[in-house]
Amino acid sequence: MHRGTLFCFLITLLCIPLNSEDTKVYVHNTCDDWGFFAHRKLNELAVYTIPAPLNTFYKSHLEEVRERAVDPDKRRYAIKGEAVRHYIDLDHWGENAVNDLPRQQERAIWRTAIFYWIQKGDTTLVFDTTQNCIFTECERDFTQAFSTQFLTLQKGISEKSAYAWLRDVAMREHDEFEWHISADKTAEWLGTKLGNEGYLHIDDRFSKHGIIPYFFPQHYRRLVRAFEEKNISKIVRLSADLGHYIGDAHVPLHTTKNYNGQLTGQDGIHAFWESRIPELFADEEFDYVVGRASYIQSPEEFIWSVVKKSHQGVDSVLSIEKRLSQTLPQDQLYCYESRLGAVVKLPCKEYARLYHQSLDRQVEERFRECILAIGSVWYSAWTDAGQPILNESPHDKKQDEDEMKALTDKQKNQIRVHE
Ligand SMILES: [Zn+2]
Repeated sequence: MHRGTLFCFLITLLCIPLNSEDTKVYVHNTCDDWGFFAHRKLNELAVYTIPAPLNTFYKSHLEEVRERAVDPDKRRYAIKGEAVRHYIDLDHWGENAVNDLPRQQERAIWRTAIFYWIQKGDTTLVFDTTQNCIFTECERDFTQAFSTQFLTLQKGISEKSAYAWLRDVAMREHDEFEWHISADKTAEWLGTKLGNEGYLHIDDRFSKHGIIPYFFPQHYRRLVRAFEEKNISKIVRLSADLGHYIGDAHVPLHTTKNYNGQLTGQDGIHAFWESRIPELFADEEFDYVVGRASYIQSPEEFIWSVVKKSHQGVDSVLSIEKRLSQTLPQDQLYCYESRLGAVVKLPCKEYARLYHQSLDRQVEERFRECILAIGSVWYSAWTDAGQPILNESPHDKKQDEDEMKALTDKQKNQIRVHE
C-alpha cells in the first residue's frame, strides 16, 4: 500500500510479526506520517506562537485544532486524490527537480502528460509529452501532433493557451485515473470540429508522484476565504488541515521516492524518524519554545523552500541509519514493548537515541521549524483576509477591538517575510 494507512496507529500496535527473522521490520512500518502523536502536538504548539489578538481565537479552539490534525490521514483512502497531497517525490523528476519543476500545477501536469483520443472503443495516441519535450517548450511539436490527429487545426496551440485551458477547463474535471474531456470542450479549445462520440483522455503522469507544494497554496487560499467569511468551523477545520500538510512537508522522507527506505533495504525508517523519535523524546527533551509566528509573503515560495530543505536532509536520514544498523549488534536494534495488551517490536530506545543524536537532532530541528511554520501560515491567512475579528462574545469583542487598536502602525509594519 502506498504511503500510510487509515488506521496506522492501530496497525502500529497490533500487526507486528513478532517471530520475524527479518531484522528490518519496524513496528511502525505501515504508518507514514509524523504519526498521530506528532501531528497533534505540532498543531497544539503552533497555537502558542500566534500573536494577539488572533491567539484568543486559536486558544479557544485548541482542542479541535489539535484533534483534527490527523483528519487528512484519516481520509487518505476515502477521498480520491487525497493521498498525493501529502508528499512529493522530488528525485523522481531529476536531481535538480526542486528548481526545475514548474511552480504552477497545470504546467507540471501538462509537460508530463500523454494525450489520447478515444472514439468508438479505439484509442489513439495523440501526443506523449514525456517522449518529446518534457520541461521544454514544445508548441510546434504539439500543434503538429494534434493537427495530424484532428486534420488541420485552424490555429497553433500555444503553450500559454494550453496552460490556461488546462487550468480553467480541464482541471475542473481532473481525475488521476479517469481524466476525460468531452469532444465539445476539446473542440472548443482546438478551434476545430470533432465528432461527439469521442473524448480526450489525459494521462496524468505527474500527480501520482506527489503534489504537496501545488496543493498547499490552494488550501491556504481556502483558509483566507474562510477568514473573510468569518466561518468559524471552516477556519478551524482548514487550520487543522494545513497544520497537517505543513507537518508532512517538513519530513525529509516525504520528498523522496525512497520514502520508506524500501529501495535501500531500510523498510520502516519512515516511522522510525517521524514517529518513534518524537514519541520517545519530544515531550522530555525537545525545546518547544520557538518564538512568534510571522507573516509569510508568498505561500508558494514558502512551501517550496520547506520541501527543498526537507529534501536536503534525505541523504543523512538514510545513510546514518544504514551505518548505525550495520555497526551495532543486531540485538540492540529492536526491542519488544507492551502496549494496550499487545507486545510490539520497536527500535530500541537507546538505538533511537543514538540515531537522533547522530542526525544532529535533525528531527527536533524540523519539528521546531514546523511549529513556527504552522503558526505563521495561520497568522498570514488571517492577515491576508484583513485581520477580521472572530466569534467573540460582546465583552471579548470589545477587548479584541481594543487590542487591535493598540497595534500600532509600527507593529503592523513589522510583519516580515518568513524565511
Ligand atoms: Zn499526511
